[in-house]
Amino acid sequence: MKTEVKPITEQSLAEGGALIRAGELVGMPTETVYGLGGNALSADAALRIFEAKGRPADNPLIVHVSCMEEIPPLVRAIPKAAKRLMEAFWPGPMTLILPKADCIPSEVSAGLDTVGIRLPSSAAARGLIRAAGVPIAAPSGNRSGRPSPTTAQHMLEDMDGRIPLILDDGPCAVGVESSVIDATGETPVILRPGGITPEMVEQVLGRVSVDEHVMSPLREGEIVRSPGMKYRHYAPKAKTIIYEGDASRVVAAICRQYDEAAAAGERVAILGFDEHDFGNRTRISLGSASRPQDAAARLFSALRELDERGETMALCEAVGLSGIGLAVMNRMGRAAAFDIRQV
Ligand code: AMP
Ligand code: MG
Repeated sequence: MKTEVKPITEQSLAEGGALIRAGELVGMPTETVYGLGGNALSADAALRIFEAKGRPADNPLIVHVSCMEEIPPLVRAIPKAAKRLMEAFWPGPMTLILPKADCIPSEVSAGLDTVGIRLPSSAAARGLIRAAGVPIAAPSGNRSGRPSPTTAQHMLEDMDGRIPLILDDGPCAVGVESSVIDATGETPVILRPGGITPEMVEQVLGRVSVDEHVMSPLREGEIVRSPGMKYRHYAPKAKTIIYEGDASRVVAAICRQYDEAAAAGERVAILGFDEHDFGNRTRISLGSASRPQDAAARLFSALRELDERGETMALCEAVGLSGIGLAVMNRMGRAAAFDIRQV
């Protein structure tokens, strides 16, 4: 199969919508990352998504809608707290886990009784959903285990020959996947941090709860509330280490480790901030230290670059855990198997 990449036009959206209605898969840009979209009401389309990604069948898909009115038929109930989050943060980078209605095939929800629903802010994503005339199930558009795609080019690298069309809307504004919030109960729990931060949720509800696995690896045999937590994600081939602490000590520790490893024959790269001086050592920029949203937008592309360049070791500057920093550190932490060194 030949994979075409097309810019967003009325015509390409109509073509994408027709492909989805016909049971095919389409690369869908959103404000978070590029998704691999298929008809959310079709078990066959869901199976195709799992196959194209190489995704374990027990990891459920998020269902995307183009407006609030499309939600009631997809769920059995909308608890009060969920309603308030929807009103505050949709359209936007937030997925709510809700009790699933029967029209969602169990292949989409991976056998769970709940379903993740998201109303994206991306006009391209909503245009595609409207053109398809059905909700779109879309996980991130990477092959399983690779960093999520934040450009159409990334998605082509992973999906070339596997799907007919990728819609290109440029680089994603947020750059990390949506916040996943279990909203089935009266106290919503953040299962995966993202662009809607714990602080933002707390402002609306007066309380917030964050799953303990967001910043820690799983222990053997542990049961998780979100199947995606089980899987090793975003792992570059390079051995990845994170340094956390006062900026000048972090820079010094990274430079020391860099020189030692380089002398031992490793190919080393630093994921670091523009303000910090690493001399002429190889650095992939995470943007400005004062704007954690830069690191969010650049992290996945930086992880891909490590592999492309054949680096064998990556030394990363940590980001503070407030705001979107928690989402950045959750993804960076998993890429580093939570090897975080305090300096
Ligand atoms: P991705 O599709 O790659 O953005 O990953 C979706 C994430 O949402 C995974 O971590 C899933 O485990 C999680 N997720 C989706 N649906 C549910 C659900 N019904 N219950 C809990 N977690 C879910
Ligand atoms: Mg993913």
